[in-house]
Amino acid sequence: MPESFSGIMLRIDLTSSRIERQEFDEMFYRMYMGGSAIGTYFLLKETSPDTDALGEGNVLTIACSIVTGAPVSGVSRFCVAAISPETGAVGDTQAGGSFGPMLKSAGFDAIVITGRAKKPSYILVDDDSIQIRDATELTGKTVLAVHDILAEEYGKKNVSILQCGPAGERLVRFACLMADLNDVAGRTGMGAVFGSKNLRAVVVRTSRRTNVADAEEIKQLARVASENLSGMEFPNLLARHGTPGVLGFQTRAGNLSTHNYSRSFHEDYQRLDGAEFEPKIGSGKTTCFACVVGCRKKVKCQEPYEVTDRLGGPEFETLGLLGANLDITDPVAVSKANELCNNYGIDTITMGALAAYLFECAEKGLISDEQIAEGRVVRFGDADALLWLIEQVANRRGIGELLAEGFEPAMKTLGPATAPFAINVKNHGLPAHMAQVKPSQALMYAVCPIGADHMSSEHDWLLASDSEAAKGLGILGRGRADICDLDKVRMTVYSQYYYSLLDALCLCMFCWGPGSLFDYHCLERLIRCTTGWECTFWELMKVGQRRVNMMRQLNAKRGFSRKEDMLPARLFEPLPDGPAKGRCVNKNDFLKMLDQYYALMGWDPRSGNPTEGVLLELGLDWTI
Ligand code: SF4
Repeated sequence: MPESFSGIMLRIDLTSSRIERQEFDEMFYRMYMGGSAIGTYFLLKETSPDTDALGEGNVLTIACSIVTGAPVSGVSRFCVAAISPETGAVGDTQAGGSFGPMLKSAGFDAIVITGRAKKPSYILVDDDSIQIRDATELTGKTVLAVHDILAEEYGKKNVSILQCGPAGERLVRFACLMADLNDVAGRTGMGAVFGSKNLRAVVVRTSRRTNVADAEEIKQLARVASENLSGMEFPNLLARHGTPGVLGFQTRAGNLSTHNYSRSFHEDYQRLDGAEFEPKIGSGKTTCFACVVGCRKKVKCQEPYEVTDRLGGPEFETLGLLGANLDITDPVAVSKANELCNNYGIDTITMGALAAYLFECAEKGLISDEQIAEGRVVRFGDADALLWLIEQVANRRGIGELLAEGFEPAMKTLGPATAPFAINVKNHGLPAHMAQVKPSQALMYAVCPIGADHMSSEHDWLLASDSEAAKGLGILGRGRADICDLDKVRMTVYSQYYYSLLDALCLCMFCWGPGSLFDYHCLERLIRCTTGWECTFWELMKVGQRRVNMMRQLNAKRGFSRKEDMLPARLFEPLPDGPAKGRCVNKNDFLKMLDQYYALMGWDPRSGNPTEGVLLELGLDWTI
């Protein structure tokens, strides 16, 4: 077995308290490589079409990859996969920091968790000693409090803590996972899966380090990142201002979710621009394991809200969803909302999208203030109302009990007249990037197996760039960024395979995405100097394609089909103002793109699901 991975996955059944080590051969890793490709493998093998996301039968995998832990920028992420309680489809979320490298160093490529513990528990991976421990005293406590208790017990050095927060314990369907306070595995409700298993946390302690096949070559590769950082505009911007630094130019291009996605530009947006607010409330930054970028910006405030800098600062998506989309432009208020979500363990994107739904329904008189709470008024622009609502959801109180179940139950209870304002795909709240302005994102929001996601393919600029990054993916010629056409569909498909590969390898797209710190040759080098394998780019892209098909095949078995690949009606309406005034997703063009997408994927055009031919070609015959 190559030195960069052990070939061993830790199997923990919480019902029986059985702990085992399961070994896989080199060919398995060459096929799937890591991340949610491995997670989906277990879901396809060990769940049935009617497995309840919050039932004992769900299989939750925390996975690294064959390269995780190599001391190179952007090689630090880990993935959590299970059936999603938010969507009912495959769930997949990733985070950076140090948890992934620590788990790998302890000797495990993944932890696969099944069953349900009889009492609140946490898992301790202390190098070779694995224990399921009592978490009764942690129950109901905030993320910050639990982190401090566990850090006190196991030390702060060489320890990493992944936990679900009280929202996960209370089965809020879009509860997230927090790693070491600052790294959020935000999407698809993996915190609720932790909660459903009576699992509060996973603690990893180790003093070992992951080996690589060629340590000298790894050092050279790490140097590429340092040399490229200052000369490359996007990574450099991230290093200076983090993702909040992109908000200014994204908004000037009419690409910021505003007033429940009905607009794409907020007049007061500059207050939310990282370059603008950082001098006032910035509190330094952190970085992921071995990364030279350091894009994780922290904030600290006193007035009008006190915000600690221990739970990170708001990212671009959070500034969009808990900010402009609710007409809240005070960065201190958004930072407070972000802190609350992180301390309870709630995904800020779906939380923001649900809050916007409620605010608009209240504004339009579709639900009364009495229905929300006795006389409580919630309106756009009201930061106090947002903070109150987060508390309600996290504690499942009043209207929060309903919203904690997600979009579909809320629409059923509040009535069909409210449905046009529930901006989601597959019950998954839309990110802050506007599909009206980015046609490739319109397509990806609709077809992505986990629900609307902005990190599953490249955005439209790549087609218009005529760059080496585009050509390297086979995207030739200079197409138009602003239209739906076959070139755009092809770009979306090719870049989806590439992003899927990055997710299987648990790589950060800010370092490894097209046009970032590393080019595609570096990716081949990374595989070679960690594992010793001579993989061609073609073979690697097949891994990405395989992962997408596995996820889609799992969804197909669970009853998902083309009918779920639909956008909210609001996105087909022209934007009323701002730099993107008049832009919309043209419905006919969109439906044509869908047909073309299924054709290019080799999927059945009626069901939108993988055909036998594609599955056979990818070595996935065992999924049929
Ligand atoms: S670019 Fe940012 S998110 Fe990515 S690995 Fe580096 S610090 Fe982490």
